[in-house]
Amino acid sequence: MVEYDEFGPEKILQVYDPVTGMKGFTVIHSTALGPGKGGIRMTPTVSVDEVSRLAAAMSYKCAMAELPFGGGKSGIVADGKNLDPKKKMEIIAAFARAIKPICPSMYVAAPDMYTAEAEMAVFAKANGSIQSCTGKPLTMCEGRSCGIPHELGSTGWGVFHATLVALEHKKIPVKSATIAIEGYGNVGSFAAKYLADAGAKIVALSDSKGGIYDPQGLDLKNVSEAKQKTGSVVGYPHGTKLEHGKIFEIACDVVIPAAQPDVLHDKNKDLIKAKIIVEGANIPAPISVEEYLHKKGILIIPDFIANAGGVISSYVEYIGGTQEEVFPLIEKRIVKNTRLMLERAQQKKISPRSAAMEIAKERIRSAKRLEDYEHHP
Ligand code: NAD
Repeated sequence: MVEYDEFGPEKILQVYDPVTGMKGFTVIHSTALGPGKGGIRMTPTVSVDEVSRLAAAMSYKCAMAELPFGGGKSGIVADGKNLDPKKKMEIIAAFARAIKPICPSMYVAAPDMYTAEAEMAVFAKANGSIQSCTGKPLTMCEGRSCGIPHELGSTGWGVFHATLVALEHKKIPVKSATIAIEGYGNVGSFAAKYLADAGAKIVALSDSKGGIYDPQGLDLKNVSEAKQKTGSVVGYPHGTKLEHGKIFEIACDVVIPAAQPDVLHDKNKDLIKAKIIVEGANIPAPISVEEYLHKKGILIIPDFIANAGGVISSYVEYIGGTQEEVFPLIEKRIVKNTRLMLERAQQKKISPRSAAMEIAKERIRSAKRLEDYEHHP
């Protein structure tokens, strides 16, 4: 069942193409602040309900990052991981043509699970508008750059700045901070690099094969070499190996989930020793577990604040900006809004997530009031 809240979903568009067999949908949660922004997920199990929840999360993420975007998300019911590449692109093109009437006026697409740069290039071409999606390849437009790929590390840069604000709040100097990061992909590896460059000690890292731990600190150059050579951080020749999930039990200042959903749960919530959790991944913990950890005194920077770097980069691409503009804007927005959230949380004695939701909803409400007035002055 699709859940409705005070803002949406405003529209749910379901599409089908009998020639390619493409079945998909786009959910637009809210357009009060601008066109719904959000990625296209291509999995066999994706549903309208799942996409609706993700679209709502995008509304709050964009509002919190002060972007002129609402929230949206798309799903294509197909095995994006294993599909024949040619067939996959045919399906993407069919989907892009089918949702043409709403792009980019009401919806601007992006990569999500099993869609990336190449799919965005096909999407934009078939849709007929360069503004119909972000996350396009850098070289997409002849003579000028019109794409900013997600692979530049923009989300990890934002996670890094959210972590700096959290450390400052807890009065822990970055140079003495110890950090554990779950996931060494796009988000995790860049967050690790920026934190290590700032002087923090990365004591544990993990990927899908397992984890590594060294209280003296890991050498990231060696970690990346090991990952390239052996396919996993577990190939790192020093320190001790960690079983799956054990990274959350390490004694350290900050733990950054940057891979899977629901990794913090009822069974491990009492084993977490970190003072700060910065959510690089989306929904790494159910709200009930977050509230429990908050009450125990652990500072949690929620996903929709900490990992907004990706959507801020998308905004720069959407307005035709350049790569050079991306990083300063992410730093500015994430630092400002993380501080704003923490101030409100402290003042009202509520969790950071509740404070951020209040701020995001206020921003959408005030835009909606203006919009309603324009329609019925
Ligand atoms: P990615 O595919 O680049 O990397 C994922 C990493 O997680 C890999 O290193 C993989 O080995 C590891 N992993 C998988 N299963 C694991 C497990 N059980 N234990 C430990 N590690 C495991 O993905 P990404 O782009 O870095 O995204 C990571 C998370 O961040 C996701 O939740 C994603 O939704 C979220 N996110 C990403 C972006 C972005 O711009 N890439 C933006 C916002 C949010």
